[in-house]
Amino acid sequence: MAGMKAIQLVAHGTPGTFALRELPDPKPAPEEVVVQVLACGLNRLDLWLEEASLLIPLHLPRTPGGEVAGRIAEVGSAVRDWRPGDAVAVQSNLFCGACEFCRRGEESQCLHHVILGVQRDGGFAEKVVVPARAVARLPAGVDAATAAALTLAGSTAMHMLTNRAAVRPGDWVLVIGGASGVGSAAIQIARQLGARVISTGSTEAKRALAQRLGAEFTVDSAQVAWPVEVRRITGKRGVDLVVEHVGGAVLLQAFECLARGGTVVTCGATAGREVSLPLWSLFVKQHRLIGSYGRNRADLAATLDWAAAGKLLPVIDSLVPLDLTPAAFARLRARQVLGKVLVRP
Ligand SMILES: [Zn+2]
Repeated sequence: MAGMKAIQLVAHGTPGTFALRELPDPKPAPEEVVVQVLACGLNRLDLWLEEASLLIPLHLPRTPGGEVAGRIAEVGSAVRDWRPGDAVAVQSNLFCGACEFCRRGEESQCLHHVILGVQRDGGFAEKVVVPARAVARLPAGVDAATAAALTLAGSTAMHMLTNRAAVRPGDWVLVIGGASGVGSAAIQIARQLGARVISTGSTEAKRALAQRLGAEFTVDSAQVAWPVEVRRITGKRGVDLVVEHVGGAVLLQAFECLARGGTVVTCGATAGREVSLPLWSLFVKQHRLIGSYGRNRADLAATLDWAAAGKLLPVIDSLVPLDLTPAAFARLRARQVLGKVLVRP
């Protein structure tokens, strides 16, 4: 029997316990494909799985990893659109394709969604099996590392800025944490849509990266009164849109940065899952708070097309072999990374 190597989480913890294991080759069901993993990005979601801080039932052992790019290795008996060798990226929010939301192209709202690398085995392995509908073809010129670095964070930002919220040319857009995966993509997307971009960053290196990606101004989020600086930059007016993915007190500070009629779009709550929102200023200033989750197929396709056109560049911290995956988890937890860490099985 052929086999493959995989990194499995065998016990939750901070850090958790991992094992490099030899597993049987995955077999595709009729509507599934097996992808040979060429690159898999590390995400904060992987840390939440490791420390068991997700609000869903978790089962171990589990192979983490949701930011997968590679080549089709084998197709199920009912798969017609894919051939072995095809270069693909995998959409990590696996959707059913049949519920009312999927039928109208809102796969991010699927009633039966499954998170790759959390609720089924993911990409920190030589091979991963996924539904054929969850793979997207890589455009010419987009390699596996670029695709893996953008498939989750880049398409999350694309969904926030082009589906959930809108950017008009000339708008002021504030990107929280512009050196993060979502932030680095959001800066580039907002600029391409004609916005003027301000980014927060907690270190000189992070702010310099945000500027290289297209932020016109950066503010030091280690300073308590950083929203005052955002208002100063915009002539006290405030910004039209805040791209937020941290939550907690930062979400409330985002509202301090908003112009009248402005919008906060948020996709994360790493810094706190509950806040107390002052409603008076929300309605008087006609602010909007919009939740965003995952991506639709159209968002992933747009992300890969923009990458092929050179409009969206990946920010890659490092490439590591499969056996060093647990060390990469530790570096991400210690916030020692600048850009995406990619595992290359
Ligand atoms: Zn669905």
